[in-house]
Amino acid sequence: MNVKVLKFGGTSLADAEQMKKVIRIVKADEACRYVVPSAPGKRFSADEKVTDLLYLCYETAKKGENFGEVFEKIKNRYRDIIRGLGLDFSLEEEFKGIEVAILHHAGRDYVASRGEYLNGMIMAKALGFTFVDAASCIFFNENGSFAAEETNKSLGELLKKTPHAVIPGFYGSMPNGTIKTFTRGGSDITGAIVARAAEADVYENWTDVSGFLMADPRIVKDPKPIGVITYRELRELSYMGATVLHDESIFPVRFAGIPINIRNTNDPDAKGTMIVPSSKVEGNDGNVITGIAGKKGMSVISLEKDLMNAELGFGRRVLEVLEDLGLSFEHLPSGVDTMSIVVATASLEGKKERLLDGICRAVKPDYISLDDGFALIAVVGRGMVSEKGTAQRIFGAIADADVNIRMIDQGSSEIDIIIGVSEEDYEKSISAIYNAFAG
Ligand code: ASP
Repeated sequence: MNVKVLKFGGTSLADAEQMKKVIRIVKADEACRYVVPSAPGKRFSADEKVTDLLYLCYETAKKGENFGEVFEKIKNRYRDIIRGLGLDFSLEEEFKGIEVAILHHAGRDYVASRGEYLNGMIMAKALGFTFVDAASCIFFNENGSFAAEETNKSLGELLKKTPHAVIPGFYGSMPNGTIKTFTRGGSDITGAIVARAAEADVYENWTDVSGFLMADPRIVKDPKPIGVITYRELRELSYMGATVLHDESIFPVRFAGIPINIRNTNDPDAKGTMIVPSSKVEGNDGNVITGIAGKKGMSVISLEKDLMNAELGFGRRVLEVLEDLGLSFEHLPSGVDTMSIVVATASLEGKKERLLDGICRAVKPDYISLDDGFALIAVVGRGMVSEKGTAQRIFGAIADADVNIRMIDQGSSEIDIIIGVSEEDYEKSISAIYNAFAG
């Protein structure tokens, strides 16, 4: 039988009405065996996330002030959900225990994790599934890193004995038993860990959008959804700032070859986006490009030197200057006697003079300049490898939009072309590329 692991984000669990949709989704398919909930998120844009309220309780208690009012809000969120679902169930004893723990200076991570813990208990009751506390099966090492193999083994064994379970997202336990959370948005990671341990056929990540879009909807009106994307393409797009998923959540399932399906709780009939290993994907849905993303706030250091290509160690000496200043570079396009280094402008703060001086001393260039105000745009698509004329179409579209291309870089994987333009041309360029391929 198929096994599905379903992770639901905070907006999917924000109130009883949303929870009812979740219950319908899980109950509609026998394969839905394991559910990983977030804490209740925002019901409307000005609302507060339960996780944020819990952090506030912790901070208030730490200052020795009364956190009762904030905690009351949290309790009411859960009481409303339980009432709205018509469950014969109470969390009052749990609330008391948590309140006492906060009063006795429980750790920050413990307090934050209670959002998922309590929501997990409600979900388990509503679905008739076993509640499995993540503290008993998701482990961290002494140094705070995630204990992947130990967790996989013990969670795998546990799930074999447990046909249906709810495992709260976001946290696990340290070797001494204290609670530790992942970084914010970390329920995505828990979902991936559970999917790997359950040897799931698919990891469904349910959120409030119907998967990834080909371009940022704030720039392109109604961009087409992406049906299938490979892990590598996703990595390229999310590096450029297109995020729906927590970065680290990809690794556990990627190595196990399990596809991730991004789905929309508010539109369960939409197929969403399938994220798959390159080896499992056939064709490209008829699209040459899969998506376009980008980011502003880039600076370019340009270097020229006659016979640079023959000067042994030139590149290394330049990059050593960056390294010594703790700067990492984003791209490194180079010509015969020229080299450009693209760096995030924010990272250069207070370091520009030292950087230019250092490079001049290290390699004595004929010319050096540092310009801010660049934007990078990545055009990503596994279909580009086999399709001729893609670069020409991209550059033609940008030229037609009257934009000057300042830099071009094609990754060695041939699944992306990166273009540098002035920040003021950023939106115009993205729209032009989108229209040339998908408009
Ligand atoms: N509730 C946590 C947060 O708000 C984790 C999550 O939702 O994934 O960051």
